[in-house]
Amino acid sequence: MKKFVLFVVSVLLVSLCLGCGSTKKEAAPAKKELIVGTEPAFAPFEFQKAGSSEFTGFDIELIQAMAKKMGYEKCTIRNMGFDALIPALEAKNIDVAIAGMTITEDRKKKVNFSKPYYKSGLSIVVDKNNTTIKDVKDLVGKKIAVQIGTTGAIEAAKIKDAVITSFNTNNEACLELKNKAVDAVIGDKPVEEYFLQQSGKNVYAKIVGKTLTSEDYGIATAKKNAALAKELDKALEALQKDGTYDTLYKKWFGTTAK
Ligand code: GLN
Repeated sequence: MKKFVLFVVSVLLVSLCLGCGSTKKEAAPAKKELIVGTEPAFAPFEFQKAGSSEFTGFDIELIQAMAKKMGYEKCTIRNMGFDALIPALEAKNIDVAIAGMTITEDRKKKVNFSKPYYKSGLSIVVDKNNTTIKDVKDLVGKKIAVQIGTTGAIEAAKIKDAVITSFNTNNEACLELKNKAVDAVIGDKPVEEYFLQQSGKNVYAKIVGKTLTSEDYGIATAKKNAALAKELDKALEALQKDGTYDTLYKKWFGTTAK
């Protein structure tokens, strides 16, 4: 009898321990720090706070909230070129990349993406006094500035006889337009809109024509790290349900999500 009681007690103890073990595992991530790569010249998604080395923007606040939801103690932002983000994921130098990155078939071959978190598209930006470029068909044979490795660069490459110059950031591409060295910039509409709006009275450019593409932004992770992609989706869904996503959207875009 004694032996039987002892047996039951030990079975109970063992299962209790196993129980705690598995719940703990689900609640806390394997690592305490989430390392996030971004290219921070892409306001209002990611940019440096004025007079500070800190980064802010919709993407930054979203990933910080997601990291918290996933149980990370720390969320570190690393600054790099846009075209360095996917190689950095592959080399495990960063855990995730959030950078207004469009989910494309080509990129999907190299990385995993979270569920889409922002609806975007490309716009044409020209000098505010330009009256000849009204749409994409007017860009044939024209000088166009783009950001290296972006969907804007891919779209510009499709335009017949266009002379394309690539820059590390969208800001530099726009500066080229300001200096009248190019006829147009092709870049992400929300970023161009924000930039024009921030320029206020000193604005030197305008958006023309229809939005060229319909794109979805996603958060990228390494192909080998499928578990993290799932965790990100779970966290994104939770923030969409509890209103955090909507609050951030309203804060940065002034409207509700499309
Ligand atoms: N959405 C564009 C792309 O993914 C541009 C992103 C960016 O410049 N940060 O190519």
